[in-house]
Amino acid sequence: LNTSRETYLERQQRALAAAASLKLDALLVSSLPNIRYLTGFTGDNALLLLEPFQNILFTDPRFLFQAQQESACRVRSVRRPLLRDAAAWIHRRKLRRVGIEQHHLTYAQFRQLDGSLPDAVELLPTERLVESLRTIKSPDEIALIRQSALLTCQALEQTLPLLRPGVSESDIAAELVYRMRKLGADGPAFDPIVAFGRNSALPHARPGANQLKRKDIILIDCGAFHHGYASDLTRVFFCGTPPTAVRNLHKAVVEAQKAALDAARPGVRASRVDQAARRVLRQYGLAQAFLHATGHGLGLEIHEFPRLGASERSRLEPGMAVTIEPGVYLQESGGIRIEDTVVIRENGCDVLTPASKELVII
Ligand code: ZN
Ligand code: ZN
Repeated sequence: LNTSRETYLERQQRALAAAASLKLDALLVSSLPNIRYLTGFTGDNALLLLEPFQNILFTDPRFLFQAQQESACRVRSVRRPLLRDAAAWIHRRKLRRVGIEQHHLTYAQFRQLDGSLPDAVELLPTERLVESLRTIKSPDEIALIRQSALLTCQALEQTLPLLRPGVSESDIAAELVYRMRKLGADGPAFDPIVAFGRNSALPHARPGANQLKRKDIILIDCGAFHHGYASDLTRVFFCGTPPTAVRNLHKAVVEAQKAALDAARPGVRASRVDQAARRVLRQYGLAQAFLHATGHGLGLEIHEFPRLGASERSRLEPGMAVTIEPGVYLQESGGIRIEDTVVIRENGCDVLTPASKELVII
């Protein structure tokens, strides 16, 4: 499942075409996930200059061999700051209108670049040019996300037997990461959220020394990176026999999640998927307890476009990979969230995280 050199060259061509439509002579890419998407390079320090004459990856000697092996473009390894070297290259090539990634260049970096260039060169901010190419996944990328999602489900399943009264949130978080790595993941896509009892009411709870007690809700949100691609999964369990109130909350969230899954198909605005989940929760009187958007795109990063939120006007398209994750959070009783990773298909969406949504009793 290695991405072919042709695929990277084709992505570079598409990014260049997008830059040309903005009348840019070149595009300086500084986001590492964007550089990975366009070239295959997975190192920590790089800049990529896309221009019609030649695409060049700038890196430092620590990454030279890796860059030569991985990157589908010419590589320059330099000891001086990469921005300065890129500026010298831009100058030598007489490029005039150079696009920069405004969300991925700090002000200090911008000043360094600008200060190293002659006045004739214009630096023009671009708005998520490569990110929009990344929004639609190729069949190969979807296959990688699917593998990542299966791996995450397996890691969770292998960790469940360890949920016993007395175990701590940190223990379970550590086990999840360990299982992911043993199953072949690059690593976790984010620090797993493991929340017991009232901590589950915090949508982004940090696992700590808190120990599992009888009558605790158990919320686990985790995901792996596999060959660079992320997956994201949330399930809820209960220690003991759940009271009716918790069963009802769980039922409401499962129903809201199903409504959102049913709404997720091509041509539909992302906000409609969010509305579908919110409508169900409103019927249960839980609208106020839903504290975040219904989902987010994912791929080389855990949060990508589109966002499935109330104000997101963009429309879903086949090949988008997104999460569907409504949740309710009540300070007294705790929180419930159900999250799947899905891919938008011609006629709806495919769920890539097959883990059961039953309220499992531990
Ligand atoms: Zn998640
Ligand atoms: Zn998520």
